[in-house]
Amino acid sequence: MDTSGVSRRALLLGGASLAAVDGVRSQDAGAALTAAQVIDRIKASVGTGWRAETVDRIIFGSPETPVKGIAATMMATLDVVRRAAAAGKNMVVTHEPTFYSHQDTTDALTNDTTYQYKVEFLRKHDMVIFRFHDHWHMRHPDGIAAGMAEALGWSEKADPKDERFFAFPGTPLSVLAREIESRLHIRTMRVVGDPDLQVRRVLANWGYASQMPGIQSLARADVDVLVVGEAREWEVVEYAQDAIAAGNKKALIVTGHVVSEQSGMKYCAQWLKPLLPEVPVEFVAAPEPFWSPGAPLA
Ligand SMILES: [Zn+2]
Repeated sequence: MDTSGVSRRALLLGGASLAAVDGVRSQDAGAALTAAQVIDRIKASVGTGWRAETVDRIIFGSPETPVKGIAATMMATLDVVRRAAAAGKNMVVTHEPTFYSHQDTTDALTNDTTYQYKVEFLRKHDMVIFRFHDHWHMRHPDGIAAGMAEALGWSEKADPKDERFFAFPGTPLSVLAREIESRLHIRTMRVVGDPDLQVRRVLANWGYASQMPGIQSLARADVDVLVVGEAREWEVVEYAQDAIAAGNKKALIVTGHVVSEQSGMKYCAQWLKPLLPEVPVEFVAAPEPFWSPGAPLA
């Protein structure tokens, strides 16, 4: 980076408006790509416009940070950001929160030592974390749904009118569940329903299934199985039990949230690469958080 550019930028940043800073950015060709420029390219390419109200924003770090490399991930856990930093990536594009709530509000965490440890790590490694949730889902097709269908080998089974629906030829529930478990490498999947249920139509609700539309999704006459990342056991899970007890041929598969969207962010890394040819882009998998005695850690 040439020093005259740095001093000019420093001067302007002193009290400049955002518009002036943008002007500088476009002038200094050859300078390192900043986090703000990465985000500008994402905004310009995602094809959805940009919502006024969104969780998609910088969660940690400065927009002016020069980006050395980008890690796309499902969830920016401490483990993920450490592996990103070790691989020389100082910008993390994460689908899910960094600080344990949908809005990434940290007011109640300021005295928490785990929170402080994570913040200190991010600061020390000059990292920027950008949340990319809403707009990756709003994209056509939904970026998460597209990546998950590919990972499952279900792209051909998807309903051309609605990418959430998949058709099966009367596959037993036990076979379907095992296929999902092995394709997504899940240690702790959970299933509600008769293992011999003949499955013809699956509705996938990747990520969190709220009470509504979760219940409505499972209740649909054209849905045999609802696949969710996670749901409350006293909402959609209880409803699934009751629907079955009332005589309906239904089932619910709970994969775990991380594994239910992970491949959608692997696809995001592929999507980001041609947008950002100046810097290396890598997918960093978030680990499935759970193990069980029958499926211990490797
Ligand atoms: Zn999601």
